[in-house]
Amino acid sequence: MVRAVDVHKRYGRDEVLKGIGLEVAAGEVLCLIGPSGSGKSTFLRCINHLEKIDGGQLWVDGELMGYRARGDRLYELGERDVCRQRSAIGMVFQRFNLFPHMTVLENVIEAPMRVKGESRAQAVEHAQALLTRVGMQAKAQAYPARLSGGQQQRVAIARALAMRPRLMLFDEPTSALDPELVDEVLAVMRGLAEDGMTMVVVTHEIAFARDVGDTIAFMDGGVIVESGPPGEVLMRPRHERTRAFLSRVI
Ligand code: ATP
Ligand code: MG
Repeated sequence: MVRAVDVHKRYGRDEVLKGIGLEVAAGEVLCLIGPSGSGKSTFLRCINHLEKIDGGQLWVDGELMGYRARGDRLYELGERDVCRQRSAIGMVFQRFNLFPHMTVLENVIEAPMRVKGESRAQAVEHAQALLTRVGMQAKAQAYPARLSGGQQQRVAIARALAMRPRLMLFDEPTSALDPELVDEVLAVMRGLAEDGMTMVVVTHEIAFARDVGDTIAFMDGGVIVESGPPGEVLMRPRHERTRAFLSRVI
């Protein structure tokens, strides 16, 4: 579902991704861990082409993100095609970025109606099912400011799911939350993983990564230092840098 091949990304002279290679099979959960500044968010943004990469390739669901290959040349896709590719990828950020002037329900139906041309009735029916799934059906008419951070984040997940994505990206979805609100969001993510959603999750929640991740990738300094099943990377890390990081976060 996701294949990164030698992905490079620079900001000016600063090389932030120095050749990232990884694969996530359909239905699998990849948890990305690593210190601040190691390039985790940048890599996530590259996956859905919010950032343009400077080298390598990123494939999602068999499509090269942002480009079309013709012969052995690559052509940049236009905005419409990039939007189409992106609409198959849901993203949830650290800060719940719900539209503050819209109710919960309106937040969830907005993109399917505007981008996918769903009828209001269709979008509402799907939104209600999604809000039930994240335990927020009772708040459908509430405005985001009236919700807790955990509730807002669950709505943000429902909103991303409303586009029927084939891949979900999460960038530290619980790190802005009060500790007592973290579990309700992780429970929703766990449910998604159990239902077979392909997910890439940047997280500091090591217990979640251990239980839900099929693969853990430890990033440091723009490279993947090591990756493998949680039982290996978290329990028996091979690299000193991984060990040092884990001893700080566990
Ligand atoms: P954190 O755990 O703090 O979220 P991260 O692993 O997500 O860190 P990134 O946000 O990907 O790290 O940043 C990687 C590096 O790229 C950092 O050195 C950061 O300063 C730099 N960087 C990120 N975005 C930009 C940008 N838009 N312009 C310039 N430099 C950037
Ligand atoms: Mg980040």
